[in-house]
Amino acid sequence: MFATLSDRLTSTFKHLRTRGRLSEADIDATVREIRRALLDADVAVSVVREFTGKVRERALSAEVSGALNPAQQVVKIVNDELVAILGGDARGLNLAKNPPTVIMLAGLQGAGKTTLAGKLAVHLREQGHTPLLVAADLQRPNAVTQLKVVGERAGAPVYAPHPGVAGEDEVPTGDPVAVARAGVETARSRQHDVVIIDTAGRLGIDAELMTQASEIREATQPDEVLFVIDAMIGQDAVTTARAFADGVGFTGVVLSKLDGDARGGAALSVASVTGRPILFASTGEKLTDFEPFYPDRMASRILDMGDVLTLIEQAEKAFDADEAERMANKLAGGEDFTLEDFLVQMQGMRNMGSMKKMLGMLPGMGQMREALESFDEREVDRIEAIVRSMTPAERRNPKLINGSRRARIAKGSGSTTTAVNQLLERFAGAQKMMKQMARGGGGGMPGMGAL
Ligand code: GDP
Repeated sequence: MFATLSDRLTSTFKHLRTRGRLSEADIDATVREIRRALLDADVAVSVVREFTGKVRERALSAEVSGALNPAQQVVKIVNDELVAILGGDARGLNLAKNPPTVIMLAGLQGAGKTTLAGKLAVHLREQGHTPLLVAADLQRPNAVTQLKVVGERAGAPVYAPHPGVAGEDEVPTGDPVAVARAGVETARSRQHDVVIIDTAGRLGIDAELMTQASEIREATQPDEVLFVIDAMIGQDAVTTARAFADGVGFTGVVLSKLDGDARGGAALSVASVTGRPILFASTGEKLTDFEPFYPDRMASRILDMGDVLTLIEQAEKAFDADEAERMANKLAGGEDFTLEDFLVQMQGMRNMGSMKKMLGMLPGMGQMREALESFDEREVDRIEAIVRSMTPAERRNPKLINGSRRARIAKGSGSTTTAVNQLLERFAGAQKMMKQMARGGGGGMPGMGAL
């Protein structure tokens, strides 16, 4: 999902990471690279222009921050602006006060509407709703049958016309508007609290399609009109979205086929271009390949920065504020970071929940997914056992730890002298880093450098 864009953006930031201060020329060069990455990913030109303009302006006026170095600040700005073009705050489905809630699906043929009807039904059923699917796509041969199959898999009944048969339900045939209207009535009488209307699409935008969709909208007064857009169609996504926005109007967007490796950037422009939020993402052919869309999480994924904000929030909760301040003062005063401090921080880490989950929130972990998968939680236990087997004096001054002390510590912690050596080496590295950080002033989170 947006892998190429993600790689391009993160490599842009890599150039920034080593620099201490950003000049206007640095910022301009970065903004140029961001612009190219977005355009190459098919993000709409108008969106790119606005985006890069804002990033440049904010980067130039960025205040000196104690918490973030200049490079991190640029990443944060890009993140904020990405969240904004993706629609800002996440929003769920608008449910009607007086059921049934009517949801109409619109989009081109092949966009993924019928599949989405099933996915939505599963999603809604999980939340205790009783959706009814309505087959108002009478254009495409097999569309009705396809919806019936999908409905069956999703465990939701389907209201569908029987061509040529005046069935017991007296389902009107041939007229999608009448089918849609009757479908809503049926939902009401059978007490389904949500109706999902699947409508016909064409291979391209045409007037007849727009008229029909508008008529269905008019007849059923939907609470939500969801425009389904295939993320793989590239630049056409924006044109199509504009045409539907003008021709039918919609209340929300669903991005489908986000599992494809297409450039996908056009889909990212849809919210910004139409001013309508993206509600869901479809990520495969299975009914469970579906997720609510969170602009902030998507931005983090694209920037491979993990969920840093959540991480910081959790860190603030987990690390005692007084303790953090004591540590900061200590380091600022030129004192050494000791194994005792290390132990205190280890406990803080534990409070933050599983190490794996935490590491997953750290920036750059996208490229380390494999390492993360093989990360062994018990490693933390082993490290803690080793540190606990040391005397307080040893923790304060690891130089005391000679051969016989090493053997004693290894024995006491049920590990090996090699493991003790490794830990001491890693600790020495962390200590050096903490010293540099203290000298540099800020530029990281207290404690994070220790691992
Ligand atoms: P409709 O014409 O808009 O109703 O589109 P369909 O629901 O029939 O989907 C068209 C094709 O795209 C089908 O083969 C679906 O299985 C496939 N499809 C739908 N959603 C996704 C998705 O999120 N990912 C992938 N890879 N395929 C999808």
